[in-house]
Amino acid sequence: MKIRNAAVALALGVSTLAGAAMAQTVGISMPTKSSARWIDDGNNMVKQFEEAGYETDLQYAEDDIPNQLAQVENMITKGVDALVIAAIDGTTLSNALANAAASGIEVIAYDRLIRDTPDVSYYATFDNFQVGVTQANSLVQGLEERFPDVSPWNVELFGGSPDDNNAYFFYDGAMSVLQPMIDDGSIEIVSGQMGMDTVGTLRWDPATAQARMDNILSANYTDKQVHGVLSPYDGLSIGILSSLKGVGYGSGDMQMPIVTGQDAEVQSVKSIIAGEQYSTVFKDTRELARVTVGMVEALLNDGEPEINDTETYDNGVKVVPSFLLEPVGVDASNWEEVLLDSGYYEASEIE
Ligand code: BGC
Repeated sequence: MKIRNAAVALALGVSTLAGAAMAQTVGISMPTKSSARWIDDGNNMVKQFEEAGYETDLQYAEDDIPNQLAQVENMITKGVDALVIAAIDGTTLSNALANAAASGIEVIAYDRLIRDTPDVSYYATFDNFQVGVTQANSLVQGLEERFPDVSPWNVELFGGSPDDNNAYFFYDGAMSVLQPMIDDGSIEIVSGQMGMDTVGTLRWDPATAQARMDNILSANYTDKQVHGVLSPYDGLSIGILSSLKGVGYGSGDMQMPIVTGQDAEVQSVKSIIAGEQYSTVFKDTRELARVTVGMVEALLNDGEPEINDTETYDNGVKVVPSFLLEPVGVDASNWEEVLLDSGYYEASEIE
């Protein structure tokens, strides 16, 4: 029990001492409610922390960096015992986390690495490089299936938000598959737009991706057909598909290009079933919550959090010990097995 909690309990009277002593609080700072996955992450953590006997303070920052900073600072002032943070911009929390460290608050980076600070204890995430590999393998499988006689395949590339460390891992993982195929001529990036500096999508904004796809189509594809689009996130995929449909793809003899995704969000699962989006990557947020709750419990009870990676995630100051979960590729062939049989979604949510 922290000293300040004891003082509060004493001030409130002995009868509340036991309650105050037991109820440790975990501050949970999530980036945005604009994407269903983060809502699931927040709900799963609240549920699992409460089942483990903790109180929670869950806040969403609507993708506004000062807002997230203020929420985290407020949690520190209120004296939470641990902080779980999925950062909007992984580089902006250093000062706040120095204050957290000074108050003895443990910090877990959730899904996204927090950079440029020594004050992050552990990192719970998925194998982010493997997410990109899975996306690119699915893209290639789709190209082989839908456009078997075409060479080269015309492909465009989208990246995630440049302030999210994950975005580079997704892109690098995907390019580990695609670059050799670009080099041997089986894939052509017709716009020539490559590299995270060029293809990144600030704040993972679907409208930004849609506008960029519109521009790519009008500048490069008036007399050519797009066969595939690497998209790192379902929200972007929906924007990209709107752009493609806007110029006639998916109707008449213009076959829909292969479009990838990530997060298995309901709208994209429906799109996959309808034959528009080709695939997504499922990351079970229940499992990520489980790993995170386990880390916090260990830290607050002088235990050792479970980790399986001590090399990959250098945040600029130190390598943050991590637990990486396995992502699962999902397409029309396995969505029921992966998403319904596991109980992640009810069939009624997808219909
Ligand atoms: C997460 C992805 C998500 C993206 C956009 C990334 O940091 O790892 O699962 O698609 O943010 O929200």
